[in-house]
Amino acid sequence: MIMNLFETIRSRIATPARPFIIRGDGTTLSYGDMLDRTGQLANALVLAGVEPGDRVAAQVEKTVENFLLYLATLRAGAVYLPLNTAYTLAELDYFIGDAEPRLVVCDPGKRGGVADIAKARGVASVETLDANGQGSLIDVAMKAPRDFADVPRDDDDLAAILYTSGTTGRSKGAMLTHRNLSSNAETLREYWRFTENDILLHALPIYHTHGLFVAGNTVMLAGGAMIFLPKFDADEVMRHLPGATTMMGVPTFYTRLLRHPGLTREACAHMRLFTSGSAPLLAETHDEFRLKTGHAILERYGMTETNMNTSNPYDGDRIAGTVGFPLPGVDVRIAEPESGAVLPQGEIGVIEVRGPNVFPGYWRMPEKTSAEFRPDGFFITGDVGKIDERGYVHIVGRAKDLIITGGFNVYPKEVESEIDALPDVVESAVIGCPHPDFGEGVTAVVVLKKDSIADEKALIANLEGRLARFKLPKRVIFVDDLPRNTMGKVQKNVLRERNAKLYT
Ligand code: AMP
Repeated sequence: MIMNLFETIRSRIATPARPFIIRGDGTTLSYGDMLDRTGQLANALVLAGVEPGDRVAAQVEKTVENFLLYLATLRAGAVYLPLNTAYTLAELDYFIGDAEPRLVVCDPGKRGGVADIAKARGVASVETLDANGQGSLIDVAMKAPRDFADVPRDDDDLAAILYTSGTTGRSKGAMLTHRNLSSNAETLREYWRFTENDILLHALPIYHTHGLFVAGNTVMLAGGAMIFLPKFDADEVMRHLPGATTMMGVPTFYTRLLRHPGLTREACAHMRLFTSGSAPLLAETHDEFRLKTGHAILERYGMTETNMNTSNPYDGDRIAGTVGFPLPGVDVRIAEPESGAVLPQGEIGVIEVRGPNVFPGYWRMPEKTSAEFRPDGFFITGDVGKIDERGYVHIVGRAKDLIITGGFNVYPKEVESEIDALPDVVESAVIGCPHPDFGEGVTAVVVLKKDSIADEKALIANLEGRLARFKLPKRVIFVDDLPRNTMGKVQKNVLRERNAKLYT
């Protein structure tokens, strides 16, 4: 039986004196400290009127205290709702109106604006927490008792709601249960061999599934520790690397580390594991990292709604450009997008998943939820991919990024791979732009290597013979950088908007 996730975390604390979090300045919080501080915070939540099942929204910087707030929310039987600090007050109004939290925790600088929204939306309490871990919430907690009787929860009770970044339409709140989070963290702990001796270098944001659950929960279920950095900074990461055994990152962490002079085989010799996810890791980055450090980055695949679905193996071949095998207990299949018919091995279709990791649905959106599940319980991820003859899953892109040109389907990844293989190219993003004759025109947005003199015509000519005619880019746009969000995902919607009038 799975209980309140926090009870499982607590059950893994063998020795309270063991380190839980090591701050950037070297100060350490033990597991015993964590129990005391989260007990105080859970009492503070109750004082703020939070009852089991209530949402606690937090739009605050990444701090140890914010992470403790997540744990305190679990202990109080409430639902943690982290929000990206980049959201404006207008955006916040939507989230608060939609989620109806009992308490909103925000930066002191936003208190006025948030209080107005809270009042209009009937939210009971607003407390503050700043980038140094100080604020009214902490003031209340400091005076509160350390003892707190954890609220029992069932497997299907909600532990968190994470809003998806939603590049089209309204952002949706993915509901995550105690079962979803516990089962996935347990699976990852075993699959990636985390133990209490692990120290994870944590430079990811914690308003997102990767930093909060994949990193945080997995480490805690092993009774391990984290070096908690406020954000990714290559110098800071290199400075703390000697104290770590593992690191989880998004692909941009690795491309930036590869440009750091300190990244050597010696500097990484003591490391046990580097993982990557949230966006595709270029095969080139994987190869370069291996050459430089001797480590094969382990790439895995998941999403907010499903937690982690697949992973390259701990032992065995970690194959660049693939996201590995379905995790134990997770069913993965490839289906024909419209009919849902399961496709034969090797064919490209939409990736569907089912398992204890998969969320029960979107907050207050029953129609959206039922539209994204098959009758037999598989969730339609919207990612397009295939499973190869060895069982490795490959992702070729998002279904919504599929280009239909003159009636033909073009998967951007196939074109991007050919462009990226050209000697002058650093990376590329292929998009469809409205075209009067073809519906959509295949368009390549390309970052060239420094001092390269490749031009549009030459680049297209280089692709001829490698790609069918209809897949060839009609136009090539050169840029210095591809637009990316904080998780390293290329924002194709931004590129599509910028180039909406290219052919018209
Ligand atoms: P999010 O919900 O923000 O975690 O985004 C989930 C999406 O990120 C997935 O549906 C994929 O499109 C993408 N993603 C996650 N991991 C990978 C990966 N290893 N390779 C390619 N895409 C990935």
